Amino acid sequence: MIKGFRGTSLVDYPGKVASVIYTYGCNFRCPYCYNIELVLPDFYRDLPEIPEEDVLENLKKRKGFIQGVVITGGEPTLWERKLRSLIERIHFEIGLPIKLDTNGSNPHLIKKLLEEELLDYIALDFKTSPQKYPLLGGDFQRVKETLAILKDFSEKVEIRLTLYPPLVSYEDLEEMLPYLSEFKNIALQKYIPEKNLSGKSVSPYSEEICESFYIFIKKHLPQANLLKRF
Ligand code: SF4
Repeated sequence: MIKGFRGTSLVDYPGKVASVIYTYGCNFRCPYCYNIELVLPDFYRDLPEIPEEDVLENLKKRKGFIQGVVITGGEPTLWERKLRSLIERIHFEIGLPIKLDTNGSNPHLIKKLLEEELLDYIALDFKTSPQKYPLLGGDFQRVKETLAILKDFSEKVEIRLTLYPPLVSYEDLEEMLPYLSEFKNIALQKYIPEKNLSGKSVSPYSEEICESFYIFIKKHLPQANLLKRF
């Protein structure tokens, strides 16, 4: 399940120094995804698997320096039972707060982990309007279900919107707004062109346009603590 580990990160867990665990495999194919090595089987097949015990030992040694652990991917929730076991071990054996990054495609697992208080923070990438989810190979009904579950835990949730021009226009945002109405932490991030899944180069929005999206969302979601990441 684990094919990457970073001992220290200052940017992956808001307000905390954290270690980052990378799982492999993903059920989406976002054109702007830069985690190609963790998403495409032809690439991750050649990456060595990192034993869970090694990761736990490493975390134990770092405890006192790090303040949390981020589990990201790929899509970690594809690993259901193994992910749950890893989270339980970090929670009960090491006692560090855990943040999970997800594309929202496994509402059932997310609900259970939150209800059992095994997750301290969760970041969901809300990628586009409902009708464009099939372009990513994603099922919006499942993401919608996850968003509905997360509303009850909004204090520990961050919704991330990546301003990738083909997937997030004003029209798309208008259709996404109703699903965002009860969230406090929403992060607006600029898409950065780099090596990606689609192999295509798409020009990012200018800072001015990103700013106008920010103002647009601020106006429609006054309850939100809207973070700018551009
Ligand atoms: S959901 Fe995340 S990991 Fe999967 S393809 Fe999209 S950006 Fe990449």
